[in-house]
Amino acid sequence: MGRILIIGAGGVGTVVAHKVAQNADVFTEIMLASRTKSKCDAIAKAIGGNKIQTAKVDADDVEDLKRLFNSFKPELVINVALPYQDLTIMDACLACGVNYLDTANYEPKEEAKYEYSWQWAYQDKFKAVGLTAILGCGFDPGVTSVFTAYAAKHYFDEMHYLDIVDCNAGDHGKAFATNFNPEINIREVTQKGKYWEDGKWIETEPHAIHKALDYPNIGPKESYVIYHEELESLVKNFPTLKRARFWMTFGQEYLTHLRVIQNIGMARIDPIIYNGVEIVPIQFLKAVLPDPGELGENYVGETSIGCRIKGIKDGKERTYYVYNNCSHEAAYKETGAQGVSYTTGVPATIGAIMFMKGIWRKPGVFNVEEFDPDPFMEQLNKQGLPWHELHDVNLEM
Ligand code: NDP
Repeated sequence: MGRILIIGAGGVGTVVAHKVAQNADVFTEIMLASRTKSKCDAIAKAIGGNKIQTAKVDADDVEDLKRLFNSFKPELVINVALPYQDLTIMDACLACGVNYLDTANYEPKEEAKYEYSWQWAYQDKFKAVGLTAILGCGFDPGVTSVFTAYAAKHYFDEMHYLDIVDCNAGDHGKAFATNFNPEINIREVTQKGKYWEDGKWIETEPHAIHKALDYPNIGPKESYVIYHEELESLVKNFPTLKRARFWMTFGQEYLTHLRVIQNIGMARIDPIIYNGVEIVPIQFLKAVLPDPGELGENYVGETSIGCRIKGIKDGKERTYYVYNNCSHEAAYKETGAQGVSYTTGVPATIGAIMFMKGIWRKPGVFNVEEFDPDPFMEQLNKQGLPWHELHDVNLEM
């Protein structure tokens, strides 16, 4: 049906490449491009069958992107490089008439600030040229946003309380490692907590609100309120929400390491001079930490991510819990990547399928909850992320 370009050959790019190749009826020509071409070649070789072309691209450079877009002529680009590259890739898409999909909102390198303002500002430009941009199509944001839209469509007249709950009960056997790009991950989890209540944002100290939540097939795990980017679009698109929070599980060991990293200045994102060379401490830290893409081999256990929602249907108060559990071992067996990369790469591929089939295609810039959730939910079951739902249960909130 169409030509697809994947940018980024990390853990998530590995999964997207596998999944796109499995859907040959939808994706007729596939190219995987990244900063380091040898990584693309290794992924293409593992998939085999000459299904994937590879290329080198510097996604910080609009001209380099334009050169690649004009030679390969993709219909859609799946951006699974880093959030820093979102705007340059969107600019190149506009210049070359290519549609766009990503899994994380733009972040300036010098400031860890999670907001959609920069990308929403492209709305008129995409609309004017009839191109579609699909934002935040990983698991969270992504599936959690689709889960919320599905709940709103089928089970509630008004949703009032939303708690997105993200548990990783996996064990990779390392003293400390992050499950995706360490720089992006550490920036995200060390920021202040923030949630939506009664029409305004409430800010807390990092990890100040926490309690044990019970996860299906896993049991109780200490969970912490952190800010997560989908909250911003969800409270805008579902204005009946009185409160929206995001909870993530962390082990004590992980939190102790994080505290030390912060206390000794290794989480700093501003440049310092070391031996006459400018370095950014968190980027140096990334270079010495385990590569998230290499964690898969010994990773055991599973993730459980879902939405817990309370609201009103036909005048009655109802509760709803929709979730997916994903096994790290099964993800590794299928794609050579661990569960966190898998739960991000599969939804990105499904978003691309939605686009290619013309189901999620409209001019402008959209968060995933603005599209019909039903066909996406159907694909989750087919592409490796089956979901389950519980009605009128105790949400522990
Ligand atoms: P990795 O760090 O493993 O991979 C990033 C890839 O992007 C690498 O191959 C890297 O190249 C490449 N890259 C970086 N800069 C450039 C550049 N300037 N030009 C071209 N390529 C570049 O990250 P992950 O795979 O773990 O994560 C990918 C994305 O997915 C991130 O944006 C992350 O925030 C997002 N994500 C979203 C989640 C969700 O649920 N929504 C969850 C997890 C991740 P090189 O190999 O040379 O370093």
